Amino acid sequence: MSFAPLLDNLPLQKSRLLQRFEELVSPKTDAELEVMARKSRVLTLQNFGRTMRLFAPLYLSNECINNCRYCGFSRDNPILRVTLSIDQVIAEGRYLASEGFRQSLLVAGGHPEFVSQTYLADCVRALAPEFSSISIEVGPMETPEYVPIVEAGAEGLVVYQETYDREIYTQMHTSGPKRDFNWRLDCPVRGYDAGFRRIGIGALFGLAPWEQEAIGLAAHVEYLLRRCWQAQITVSLPRLRPAAREFKPVFSMSDRELAQLICAFRIAFPQVGIVLSTRERAALRDALISLGVTMMSAGSHTEPGGYTGQGVNEVHRTVRGRIQAPEFHNGEDILATGQFEISDERTPTEIADVLRRRGLEPVWKDWDPALLSS
Ligand code: SF4
Repeated sequence: MSFAPLLDNLPLQKSRLLQRFEELVSPKTDAELEVMARKSRVLTLQNFGRTMRLFAPLYLSNECINNCRYCGFSRDNPILRVTLSIDQVIAEGRYLASEGFRQSLLVAGGHPEFVSQTYLADCVRALAPEFSSISIEVGPMETPEYVPIVEAGAEGLVVYQETYDREIYTQMHTSGPKRDFNWRLDCPVRGYDAGFRRIGIGALFGLAPWEQEAIGLAAHVEYLLRRCWQAQITVSLPRLRPAAREFKPVFSMSDRELAQLICAFRIAFPQVGIVLSTRERAALRDALISLGVTMMSAGSHTEPGGYTGQGVNEVHRTVRGRIQAPEFHNGEDILATGQFEISDERTPTEIADVLRRRGLEPVWKDWDPALLSS
């Protein structure tokens, strides 16, 4: 059964767990929030120990056939674009591996011509020697299209619904296949059926009232825990950041509300991973790390080639699917445009030091072959 009817029925029917979650995201006094924070810390410690997994996204391409009002990669944005070659992807991957990362998240805009299943499978295969775990965050596909990517060695699939409000979703996604709400909603299950065993979902906070968004996301988590029971489920709670076209969040979500949301997820779903990205500023990330977060990005770049300058000679604009050379080339390095602005610009080493000072062990990989073979 698809998640869509359950989502549509949420105003009328919620499980006990979702009713509990709804109560957790309702307005709280400072004292009540402190109680939630304490419980959240204890549950995180019990389920994940004193560890924090670190990862960095590796952007493969910023080509896209969709127009999403909040995203710099939108098709009609006149940005500088590039799709890295396999050799360039390897160079970026080796850089990240030299920084210590052993988990990689390959990210690309939605463009089946530039970012085909074959290209993705080749990227995964090429990076496999460098990373113990590879996930992808790309335009949704059908189950058979995912299979070669899984066979190439990818084990994780990340797909954010962006918003669980159908009406707002339609307003935000003005053209392209992403307009199909239900097709995106069922993508995690299609990926699971293809063999992905790490499934990451999330909502982009700022498009709809945060409490309403959170309940939709929690319902999706509850559904996936049952339907995709062999997979590890993670949730991301990104807040909108400025991107090309300067889209502003429609609804605000304060730092306090973000902290409450992290606690609510941890209390309701003790074993689900919670991801915190470099969209948030350094001081806030430091404050949130002990609350319930289990995975952080570090030292991130959101432009293809951003770590090592790969692809600078192929940067172009794409107009109606055709590549056009940029009208400038004055000898400077020109990088493709990033997806959104990063707020925490500290290096992975700096972030690892902060974690250690707070009694947490930074973990650069998700599993250790030595442990598994013992
Ligand atoms: S959010 Fe994704 S699909 Fe939408 S424009 Fe950006 S990259 Fe493309």
